[in-house]
Amino acid sequence: MSDMVLPGDKIASIEEYEAGHNTFDDGDMVRAATVGRKEIDGSARTASIEHPKLLSIPKVGDIVIGTVAAVMATMMAISIDYINGKPTTSKVECICSIKNLRIRNVALVNDIVMLKILNHLNGTIHATVEERGLGVLFTKCRKCGSKVVPMRDAIKCTECSWIDERKLSSDFGSGDFVKLRG
Ligand SMILES: [Zn+2]
Repeated sequence: MSDMVLPGDKIASIEEYEAGHNTFDDGDMVRAATVGRKEIDGSARTASIEHPKLLSIPKVGDIVIGTVAAVMATMMAISIDYINGKPTTSKVECICSIKNLRIRNVALVNDIVMLKILNHLNGTIHATVEERGLGVLFTKCRKCGSKVVPMRDAIKCTECSWIDERKLSSDFGSGDFVKLRG
């Protein structure tokens, strides 16, 4: 069982091998993204992990859309639903720092957000929300759960008129996104 690895385990150097299935490249090493058996292909020069389910691991620079799973003081965790517009069912999570944003509620749990993948560090996928196009695509009123509409940098509830803040994507409220979700 010596070929079995755990998520985050180093499986090869990126100087020798490319990241294959179920792995990611952290800029130095190819690491396992899942539990499985290590597969080194010497002719294709790829290092992969054999796993019954093929995971979709976003690469650095990919644009992902996901559901906010948790919001903490300095970061939030997002369950990824789309990678570069393609749906993914493997529910890989990424972490997004929110500590540099001067926004009251960057996003709420269950909001839909668009992020860009920054890097893979120690088995964790890190993403950013700090670009104009990135941010919340869908949110609700924190007080009553009703629909909100954008108001300059803020949002306003159409029911209770509560004004709040989010890091809105420039695509917030776009019809394309509704189609994408359906
Ligand atoms: Zn409300």
